[in-house]
Amino acid sequence: MKNLFFNPVKVFEGRGCVREYPWKQHGKRCLIICGGHSARLCGALDDVRTALADLSVAFSVFDKVEQNPTVETCFSAGCEARELGADFIIGIGGGSPLDAAKAAAYFASNPHLTVETLYDGECKKAPLPVIAIPTTAGTGSEVTQYSVLTCRQIENKKTLKDTSLFPVAALLDAEYTVTLPQSVTNATAVDALCHAVEGYLSKGATPVSDALAEKAIYLMGRGLSALCEGRLDGLLREKLLCGSMLAGQVISVTGTCFVHSFGYPFTYFEGLSHGQANACFLPDFVRLSASVAESRVNRIYRLCGVRNNEEFRALIERAVPCNHRFDRDSVMKYSRIGAGGGSVNKGLYEPTPDDVYNMYKKYII
Ligand code: NAP
Ligand code: FE
Repeated sequence: MKNLFFNPVKVFEGRGCVREYPWKQHGKRCLIICGGHSARLCGALDDVRTALADLSVAFSVFDKVEQNPTVETCFSAGCEARELGADFIIGIGGGSPLDAAKAAAYFASNPHLTVETLYDGECKKAPLPVIAIPTTAGTGSEVTQYSVLTCRQIENKKTLKDTSLFPVAALLDAEYTVTLPQSVTNATAVDALCHAVEGYLSKGATPVSDALAEKAIYLMGRGLSALCEGRLDGLLREKLLCGSMLAGQVISVTGTCFVHSFGYPFTYFEGLSHGQANACFLPDFVRLSASVAESRVNRIYRLCGVRNNEEFRALIERAVPCNHRFDRDSVMKYSRIGAGGGSVNKGLYEPTPDDVYNMYKKYII
């Protein structure tokens, strides 16, 4: 028996949806979790504060989430939620604060879990409910059961995966993405395209994830072209935010493939953003997959408005330049770590050791 689809997140969209959302249903007290600047800059934090104050819901703000959040930060946020007696958690931001909010909710309800035992410990009590407000159009974390955290113990990023980590609701207001620098808009859009494409070329794909992936690939692929041509307006922002949410629903079914596994060491050791790191491997992933899934790959090209792998690569590299170069020893180390990642063999095409070497060697100085 195969589960075709499960995604319990209630998704709302539209300008002002944060102010309209019936927050009171979740309780009397909450912890808002966000990064240091963007939640204020984009207006989401103000909107949430106003909405909660109007409903007499008490709140506190934890605004110390860094990019690629560490397990330690999430633990601190979880302890703060518990001390506050929070009934629920609101995550505002890109994937980093949203993932941190989920892990914090996990820690808050499970005082026996520590930084060391998070991944092996039992989640005895359901995490606090999380409401996710994305301010980037990329990760789709607002609709996934994943929390991707920086784990110093293993010198890499590691995904916490649990059905109980799905947010209860996602509130999509594209207005919050207006303050994004163009480079972040482009990199996060590539991340979303990766989710849709990796899901479409995954062994775990189902008819439902395929339908979502095709729509997401179209929205993100065409969206990337429009971004490269400088056509970023309110409508495009809405499409990108919708596309990234759909792509998140795709990976909630399929998970990701080697693009993500291979990119993590570039982020952990070299500080590339998540989207930049994924851009380094997406065109090769699609090229290699053509040997086992030609019609799917051709459909990806058609949906993106390109004719072949060269044009697909050019689209990605125009949106997110992939000109990073690192010393040989480092790249070989990253390739070993990347090849050991959990998603490497989830794709229809399983990369050989030669494939892995050839993909990484482009990044040797
Ligand atoms: P991010 O790390 O959340 O944010 C990147 C930068 O953009 C930060 O400096 C942030 O500022 C800023 N920013 C965010 N929204 C902004 C806005 N509206 N205006 C101006 N600046 C803004 O980036 P992300 O790409 O969205 O998330 C990446 C993380 O998500 C990675 O850790 C990745 O592994 C994870 N991820 C998770 C999933 C999942 O399913 N859970 C899937 C893919 C990726 P602040 O620091 O001030 O907020
Ligand atoms: Fe991603």
